[in-house]
Amino acid sequence: MYDAHLHLQDDRFDNCRAAVRRAAVAAGVTGGCCCGTSPHDWPAVCALADQPSATTGFHLLPAFGVHPWYAGELPADWLTQLEALLQQYPAAPVGEIGLDGLRDHPSRAVQRQVLTAQLELAVRLQRPVVLHGARAWGDLLAALRPIAPRLPGFVAHAFGGSADIQRELLAMGGFLSFAGTVCNPAAKHVRTAAASTPAERLLIETDAPDLLPFQPKTGASAPEQTLAIPAAVNHPAQLVTIAATLAELRGVTVAELGALTTANAQLALNVVR
Ligand SMILES: [Zn+2]
Repeated sequence: MYDAHLHLQDDRFDNCRAAVRRAAVAAGVTGGCCCGTSPHDWPAVCALADQPSATTGFHLLPAFGVHPWYAGELPADWLTQLEALLQQYPAAPVGEIGLDGLRDHPSRAVQRQVLTAQLELAVRLQRPVVLHGARAWGDLLAALRPIAPRLPGFVAHAFGGSADIQRELLAMGGFLSFAGTVCNPAAKHVRTAAASTPAERLLIETDAPDLLPFQPKTGASAPEQTLAIPAAVNHPAQLVTIAATLAELRGVTVAELGALTTANAQLALNVVR
């Protein structure tokens, strides 16, 4: 199983990162796309990406980008730094980038400027992008519309938009990735979107350490491993809970769902093993 979106560099993992990777592998989650969010955490993503997966058992694909929350506090040369990193890691997608409607700062105009610069960079380097659109899917679509035909691909992470937005993202060739919100029976529109996304465009993710699945099944990983991980911290082994919920919603087995979304992640993110 492949976690299409996580942040293993987050400092909430500082005391349990090895346990998190062990728990993931024990649960059958063999890798994930680790998204940087600002120049501050790019070095930590590099350090994780530079550890050979043979020693950790977990295949980590680094991605680099500026998350909309951090678009207002960038050094003057941020885009040059980002391009240099993407050249250094030729398999890295551009992400996590996008727009966020949950916060007023930085302003939508600043968020959009930083997003567009990164979308243009992704076009120039021909990298897939990983998009964040929380409560701003409509504006994100408007920013993406003129650029999408020139991108090699994109992923809408933790998708939670309307059916209209879902349709247009799919028409643009995008992949939709679903996080732990689908495990909440009250999240009806997210569950409908997850059930109706075509099989060939479906991804699953944890967004760890955030978006802890509703009613996590702690039995998903070995007890001695989860003990080391704080209960409030989401981690990639929880992907099993998300996969089980999605499999049920779609009427397929967990094994089928896992195989399908792993193959899709390879296409969407150009994951090289
Ligand atoms: Zn994220």
